Amino acid sequence: MQTYLVGGAVRDELLGRPVTEKDWVVVGATPQIMLEKGYTQVGKDFPVFLHPRTKDEYALARTERKAGTGYTGFVCDASASVTLEQDLQRRDLTVNAIAKDANGELIDPYHGVEDIAQRVLRHVSDAFSEDPLRVFRVARFACRYHYLGFSVAPATMALMRTMAASGELEQLTAERVWQETSRSLMEQSPQVFFEVLSESNALASWFAELPPVPNPEYEALAKAANDNAPLETRMAVLCSGLTPEQTDTLLTRLKAPNVVADLAKMSARCSHTLMNSALQATDIVELFNNHDAWRKPARFAALLDTAGYLASVTRVNGYSSRRHALEQALQAANEVDVKAIVASGVKGPDIKKAVFAARCEAVAEFTVSLQ
Ligand code: ATP
Ligand code: MG
Repeated sequence: MQTYLVGGAVRDELLGRPVTEKDWVVVGATPQIMLEKGYTQVGKDFPVFLHPRTKDEYALARTERKAGTGYTGFVCDASASVTLEQDLQRRDLTVNAIAKDANGELIDPYHGVEDIAQRVLRHVSDAFSEDPLRVFRVARFACRYHYLGFSVAPATMALMRTMAASGELEQLTAERVWQETSRSLMEQSPQVFFEVLSESNALASWFAELPPVPNPEYEALAKAANDNAPLETRMAVLCSGLTPEQTDTLLTRLKAPNVVADLAKMSARCSHTLMNSALQATDIVELFNNHDAWRKPARFAALLDTAGYLASVTRVNGYSSRRHALEQALQAANEVDVKAIVASGVKGPDIKKAVFAARCEAVAEFTVSLQ
């Protein structure tokens, strides 16, 4: 049996990027041989094994053929006679279909090295269209390697359009789409993920609520990425032009985690208020109440960040002084001594009213710059 390094590790090494995980392909072996050598089997749908020491993934070379709809509709052959070239052929992109042997020699039947040099993301074969997830994978690689000058080959883009038009993208599970989306959002140029999906007419399949590309939200997303903003802030920026209902529909469809959905929905509700509205003392305290700024100051700060990215691309003037005033107002309101109000003998629902009034008084001096 022979083993080859394949996929992302070979690609990223050629690109001079750090290699985070190593995937291997094994030719001429059977599951039994692997188990005898001490590997543990992990693959359910096809034979993948973990190396006893390194825990790297070793997959038996296999071919795949579409035989139905959805991800389970693949017939897989991983017999010992499957060649390396056959295994490489089932892969999505030429840059992902390069193998390296134990001597460091590259095996590159689909000219991935040339495509790396030319900065092209190109499908390996027409079998590309058999797995709709590949549309999202290509968009993800395009956004990840955007800074290196990569683009999608026109023929690949044409295939992606055909795939989007077929309606198959909607058959994917939310988990797989969210995985590609969240990983893309955390890349350096996340806006390119949505640009590529838009160009392949694939935006409507899972992201129908998002504005068409180009739009200020995508520019704001690029700024957030530039600042190394966390995932929830990036998603909130993207959703800040939607209604809370649209945001909820989108993020429920994607099964996004609660931290992501919460911030996005809040930002959809308040980012325009934060950027544009005149805020009296009562408005400010209500804003803090509505977003539980008391107990979740970090989330409130993330809301302010989100509005900030949007303000910077929509040329809203004076946002930084508004933000500063709100931060000072929160600090002042937090200094209101609730215990002292209770100790003064106020009872029942009057406590809430008294606390509200005291907080309004505390923030009053910070309203001016928000008018
Ligand atoms: P990353 O750096 O994001 O991990 P990767 O290329 O290693 O990128 P993986 O998802 O780890 O991506 O997959 C490893 C390899 O398996 C890919 O390089 C590709 O050759 C192949 N592959 C993975 N998913 C698919 C798919 N849906 N269709 C075709 N080939 C795939
Ligand atoms: Mg990988």
